[in-house]
Amino acid sequence: MTPHPVPTASALLAEDQRLRDLVDSTDGIIWEADALTFTNTFISKSAERLLGYTVQEWMEPDFWKNHIYPPDREQAIAYATAQTARLQNHAFEYRFMAKDGRLVWLHDSTKVVIENGKPRWLRGFLLDITQHKLAEQQRIEGQAALREAALHTQTILDHMVDGVITIDAKGRMESFNKAASRMFGYAPEEVLGRNVNMLMPEPHHSQHDGYLQHYHMTGEARVMGAPREVEGRRRDGSLFPMSLSISKIARGGQPIFIGLVRDVTERRQYEDEIRRLAFYDPLTGLANRRLLMDRLKHAIVTSDRSGQHGALMFLDLDHFKLLNDSLGHDVGDLLLQQVAARLQSCVREVDSVARLGGDEFVVLLEGLSPFPHEAAAQSEVIALKILDALGQAYTLRQHNHSSTPSIGIVLFMHGHETMDDVLKKADVAMYQAKAAGRNTVRFFDPAMQATASAHAELAKDMRHGLVKDEFVLHYQIQVQINEHGATVPTGAEALVRWNHPTRGLVPPAEFIPLAEETHIILPLGQWVLEAACAQLVAWSQVPATAQWTMAVNVSASQFSQPDFVAHVANALRKTGANAHLLKLEITESMLMDDVEDIIDKMGAIKAHGVRMSLDDFGTGYSSLSCLKRLPLDQLKIDQSFVRDLLTDPNDAIIARTVVALGHSLGLKVIAEGVESAEQRDMLAGMGCDAFQGYYFGRPMPASELARFC
Ligand code: C2E
Ligand code: MG
Ligand code: MG
Repeated sequence: MTPHPVPTASALLAEDQRLRDLVDSTDGIIWEADALTFTNTFISKSAERLLGYTVQEWMEPDFWKNHIYPPDREQAIAYATAQTARLQNHAFEYRFMAKDGRLVWLHDSTKVVIENGKPRWLRGFLLDITQHKLAEQQRIEGQAALREAALHTQTILDHMVDGVITIDAKGRMESFNKAASRMFGYAPEEVLGRNVNMLMPEPHHSQHDGYLQHYHMTGEARVMGAPREVEGRRRDGSLFPMSLSISKIARGGQPIFIGLVRDVTERRQYEDEIRRLAFYDPLTGLANRRLLMDRLKHAIVTSDRSGQHGALMFLDLDHFKLLNDSLGHDVGDLLLQQVAARLQSCVREVDSVARLGGDEFVVLLEGLSPFPHEAAAQSEVIALKILDALGQAYTLRQHNHSSTPSIGIVLFMHGHETMDDVLKKADVAMYQAKAAGRNTVRFFDPAMQATASAHAELAKDMRHGLVKDEFVLHYQIQVQINEHGATVPTGAEALVRWNHPTRGLVPPAEFIPLAEETHIILPLGQWVLEAACAQLVAWSQVPATAQWTMAVNVSASQFSQPDFVAHVANALRKTGANAHLLKLEITESMLMDDVEDIIDKMGAIKAHGVRMSLDDFGTGYSSLSCLKRLPLDQLKIDQSFVRDLLTDPNDAIIARTVVALGHSLGLKVIAEGVESAEQRDMLAGMGCDAFQGYYFGRPMPASELARFC
C-alpha cells in the first residue's frame, strides 16, 4: 500500500488558488459573513466582476445591508435575521445595487454555521438571476396583457349594438354577445353549444343546414362576405328582419364562423316611411300623383301586351269647396279620408286608388275585357258602385253630411296613348259629368256613354220600380205524368217580370244581369221570395192547389249574402208559408264559388224544410264529386238540351245521362223547356220525373193558373 503523501505548504497554496479561481470564474459569488452583523468576512473575487465592488469594499461593516435595493432591504434583512436566529439554512431573492447603478436580482442561499448552539457564521452563494427574473416578468406581463386584451375584446363585443355570434363548423354556437342576447331574447348559457339554426325560421333554418352541409362537402363557404337580409326568430317565436354577415377564421386548423347580426326592423320601418312619404298621400294614405303615374305607365304597357283594356276614372267631389268654407278644412279633411276609405272598398285589390290633391281622386282599373263594350260595362259597374258608396251619408264630427262625386271614365288599351292623353280624356269626361248635373258618370267615348246612360237609367228605374211595386210574378206550371198517362200539375216556378210604365212587360233577361251587377237583385230577390211565399199561402187555401210546390230562382249574389238563410226564414215566417212546399233553384255556375260555404248554407236551408233544385243543369262544369256532396232534391235539365232532343242525338244522350245521373244520386229530375208531346214522351221514356214548358203552359199570372185545377 502506498502511503498518502502529506501535502506541502506550497501545494496547499496552489490548491487554495485553484479553488478561488474556480469560484471566481462562475457567475456566482461565494461569501461568508458574521451571523450577527451580516458584515462580510469573505467574498469571492467574482463579486468584483459581477457587481463592480472591490473585495475590500465588501468587507466594510454593513456593506451588504447598505447595498440592498431600499424597497427590498427591510424585508430581506428581517428574513435573514429571523432564519439565522432559528438556525435555519435559507434562500431568498432581492434586488442589489451594483456599482455601475444597475439593479441586479440576486438569489441568496445561506447556510448557518453554528457554534455552541448559536449562529456564528453565515456562508452562502449569491447567483445573479436578473435575466431569469426579467424573462419571468415579461411572461407575467405578457399574460396580463393577453388577459387584458381578451377583456378588452369582450367589453367591446358586449357594448356593440350588433350581435356577434361565433359558431363552429357544425353550426354550434361558441359565443353569443350581449347584443345578440338582447336581440334574440336568449341568455348565452341557453344557446351555447346548440345549433345556430334555432335562431332562424324556415326556410332559413333548413337553408342554413344546407349551407353547412355544402361547406363540409366542398369546402366552399357560400354565404361569406357582404351582409344579407334574412329573418331571425326570437325566443318568444316572433320574427324580425336582420342583416347578417359572416366571416370565417381558422383556429387550431378548425374553421370558426363569425356572424355579425343587426336588427334592421327600425331601418325597414324608416325605409317604409320614406317610401310612404314619397309615394303616398299623407292625408288619406292613398297613392299620390307620382305613384299613380308610375302605375298608369305600367298599366298602359301591360294592357298593350295582354290585349285587355284598362280604365282610368277621374273623380271630383261635388261642391266640396262649400263644405271646406263652411265647416273648415279639418272637417273637409275628414270627408276626404272617409271618401278614400269608401273608394278603396269599391275596387279590387289589383286596382289602384290615388288622390291627386284637393278633392280629386283617380281610380285605375286593370285587366278588363278585350272588348270595348264589355270593358265599358265592367268599369261602369264599378263607377255606379262608387256613386252609390260615396252617396251614402257621412258623419263628420257630429255633422251629418251628404256628398256626391262626378266621375269621368276613359278606357285605354293601345300603347301609343300617352299618360297625359289618358288623364286629359278622363278629366274631360269628368267635366261632362259635372255639366250633366253632377252625381253622375260620363265616358269619354260617346257610344259607350250611350250604353252607360241607358244602363244607369235602367238601374235608377229599377230602384223606383221596386218602390212603386212595378215587379210582378208569373208562374209556370210544373207537371208529372201519372200511371194512367195523365198530366198532373204539382206546382209552378215563379218568374219575375217588370211591368214598366212605358216599356210594358220587361222579361227578366233584360234586367236581371244589371240587377245583379248593381246589387238591386238583393231587395228584388227578397221581394220575389216573399211574393212567392204569399202565393203559396193563397194556394194552400184551395184544396186543389194545397199541395202545390213553388220553385223560386235565387241568383248567385243573393245566395252568397251571409244572412241569406235568415232572409228565407223571414219570408216563411212573415207569410206563414209551408216551408216543405218551397223549392229554391240555384244555378250550376254558382258552384264555382266557395263550395264549402254553399254546402253549409244549403244544409241550413234544408234544416228549415225547404227543398233545393239545381237549375240549368248541364250548362256548367260542376264535378261529380262536388255534386255528390250537395244536399239537393232535384236536377233540372237545361232547356237547351230539350230543344233539339228529337233531332240532335248528342242532346238526347245528354238528357238521358242527366236523368241517370240524377237518379243515381237519389235526386228527382225535371226537364224545362218542353214544347211538344214528342219531347215529353221521349223524356218520359228516359225516366224523367217531371216536366215544365210551353207545352204544358207558359208563365202566367196567378189568376190564370185556375185552369190547371
Ligand atoms: P230559368 O230559371 O231557367 O227559367 C226558365 C226560363 O225558360 C223562363 O224564362 C221561362 O219563361 C222559359 N221557358 C219556360 N218554358 C219554355 C219553353 O217551353 N220554351 C222556351 N223557349 N222557354 C221556356 P224567363 O221567365 O224569361 O226567365 C229567364 C231567366 O231569368 C230564368 O231562367 C232565371 O234564370 C231568371 N229569372 C227569372 N225570374 C227570376 C227571379 O225571380 N230571380 C232570379 N234570380 N232570376 C230569375
Ligand atoms: Mg229557374
Ligand atoms: Mg233554367
